[in-house]
Formats: sequence, C-alpha cells, structure tokens
Amino acid sequence: MKVTFLGTGTSQGVPVIACDCDVCLSSDSLDNRLRSSILIEENDNFLVIDTGPDFRQQMLRENVKRVDAILFTHEHKDHIAGLDDIRSYNWIYKRPMDIYAEERVMEALKIDFHYAFTDFKYPGIPEMTLHEISNNPFEINNIKIIPVRGFHHKLPVFGYRFKDFAYLTDINSVPENEIEKLKGVKVLIVSALRKKKHLSHYNLEEALALIEIVKPEKAYLTHISHMMGFHKEVSLELPHNVMLAYDELKLEI
Ligand SMILES: [Zn+2]
Ligand SMILES: [Zn+2]
Repeated sequence: MKVTFLGTGTSQGVPVIACDCDVCLSSDSLDNRLRSSILIEENDNFLVIDTGPDFRQQMLRENVKRVDAILFTHEHKDHIAGLDDIRSYNWIYKRPMDIYAEERVMEALKIDFHYAFTDFKYPGIPEMTLHEISNNPFEINNIKIIPVRGFHHKLPVFGYRFKDFAYLTDINSVPENEIEKLKGVKVLIVSALRKKKHLSHYNLEEALALIEIVKPEKAYLTHISHMMGFHKEVSLELPHNVMLAYDELKLEI
C-alpha cells in the first residue's frame, strides 16, 4: 500500500493569507503546506481521504489520473471544499464518483453542493454515488477499511484504518474502545495542530500521548498550522519514531 501526503496543513496552514510570521515567510518547502488529505494506492485502486480547497492543485501535482473513491472524515470546509473538481474524473471515466461518509457529512455535502443533487441536473456538474457508512468495517474494491470514531471537540469525526496504517485528523479525543481498533498498526498518521492547547484539535503533546498508547512503529503528524513552528526545528524535538509529515511525502506501508 502506498500513501501520499497530498497536503499536511490547515486553513491556518502555511502560508496563511496576509500573515507575515516567520513560518509563513519561510523559504523551506517543508514549511509550505496545502490542506490535509492523503492518497492511498492499493492493487491499482486510488482512494482519497478528504477533498479540501486544494484538491485540484494536489491532483495535478501528483498527476493522479484516476480516483476510485473518496472518503470523508468530516464536513468542515478545509476537508470538503474541493469536491466539485471530481467533475473531470466523471467526464473522463463516464461514471459517478463513489463517496463514502457518514449520514451527517452526506447531508452537509447535499447543502454545500446542492446543484449536484437537484432532480434536473445541469450538464457537467459533479456526479456522485453516495455510500453511507456507520461505525462498522466496510470494503471498497476488496480493500478493508475500519472506521475509527474520534471527536473534534463535540463533533464526531471518522478516522480510518487500512490493514497496517491508520489516518486520524481533526480530533482531540478518541474513546478507549476506539483506540483498541488502532492497536497493531505499523504506521499511525494523526493530526497535531500546534504546541498550544486548542478547543477541537490535538496539540503536539496530546498527539504524542496518543502515539505513546497506540505504539506504532512509526507515526506521522499532519494538519499542522503555522503556529507549530519551523519543520526543521520541531522535528528535532520529536521522539525517534515520530515525524512531522510534509506535502508530497510518500510512504510504502
Ligand atoms: Zn475540522
Ligand atoms: Zn481540518
């Protein structure tokens, strides 16, 4: 299984519009992040988790010719805003995009992209087949996926486990029984917004605490804001098995 970090930032990512802090002005490409999303490649299937505002740019950068399905973690704009751009995949492959999300997220998609769900559709609008998921394992083209429930302050979000790795973003708590589902992963990808505490996101210390419980061989931090500091400096402070992820990083798991 191959994982590509399409983006590792947030809407307070780097650079932030009109922000002139040192991190936003950094010339180090490792400090330059698009909104968080990953591409998963397995047996010639291409899955994307979340389509933020940078989706189009990310697909062009990675030269992604095909997307078989999109999974959503939650409905915040930095995770769904780019969904309209699936229309070129619709057009090339002459089929709707398979979308996997829980009911509440589906309802948000139907509001934000209302024009794609009307009875009389204007030609060329994005086409989707919605697959509602709950907190039970499911499969996409024989790839087994286990949803992992986490909380983004009070908002329930889904992380996803794929065999040996799991991806969890925009959370600041995971119930104990859900942490059990993460046991045995070789790679854990988890969000860490910044060092200072935040209402709805793990900060660095809290993400490291989860990693300490799950004990993956390797962990990668994502959904990083400009307040985290410079990639190179923060990297030196992390335990040996933990890395800050960066855009374009590719893993073979
Ligand atoms: Zn969010
Ligand atoms: Zn987010």
